Order: sequence, then structure tokens, then C-alpha cells
Amino acid sequence: MSSRDYYVLHRDAVIARAKRYQQSHREAGMCIFCSNPAIKRSYCESCERKLNERARSKRAYNIKLQRQYKQFRLAHNQCYNCGAPLMDDETKYCITCKVGWSHNAVVKGVLKYETAD
Ligand SMILES: [Zn+2]
Ligand SMILES: [Zn+2]
Repeated sequence: MSSRDYYVLHRDAVIARAKRYQQSHREAGMCIFCSNPAIKRSYCESCERKLNERARSKRAYNIKLQRQYKQFRLAHNQCYNCGAPLMDDETKYCITCKVGWSHNAVVKGVLKYETAD
């Protein structure tokens, strides 16, 4: 059995064991990844740095991807927000997005619909 199969079959047990392991390390003031003394939170300095770097590069990658998507949408007459094809009377954003936003605004109490009664 591969470790992948084992993980699928015993997922809860694997996660529970990992949590117990992390918990015991946390209580002992050790890094949950490498057992070095933890500096802040549950990580040692080098693991903390690695995590931060990974988060930063992931974020940068997502931002880059989003930007490319949006450029593509602008160039292809698609909604800037969701990528739906724009109708003739729609500019930049599709009606679905606009209605959704104003609906959210109403829910939050920012904007109020005019009631014609
Ligand atoms: Zn560490
Ligand atoms: Zn849209």
C-alpha cells in the first residue's frame, strides 16, 4: 500500500496524529516542523521564514495571475470581475456582478433600494 492510499484510508487518524504531534511540540515550546526551539507561534526562526517566503511567493504568483486574467478580459470584452462575456450595453463589468455588488451593499445596509409604493 502506498502512503497515498494509507492517507486516503486513514485520513482522520493521520490528521489526528499530526495534530497530537503538533500539540505536544507546541506545549513543549518546540517548532512543529523541525523540533528546534520555537521563537514565536509554533515555529522556529528558519521554519517561520520559510513559511513566510512560501506565502509571499504564492501571493505574488496569484497577483500576477489575476493581473494577467484581467488584462485578458479587458482585451476580450469580458467582465473584469468574473470573465463573463459582456453584452453590448455592459462596460467593464457584467450585470450579474453589478447586481451582486449592489445586493451585497443592501444586505450590509450601505445602499438602500428605492421602494415604489
Ligand atoms: Zn523549525
Ligand atoms: Zn461579472
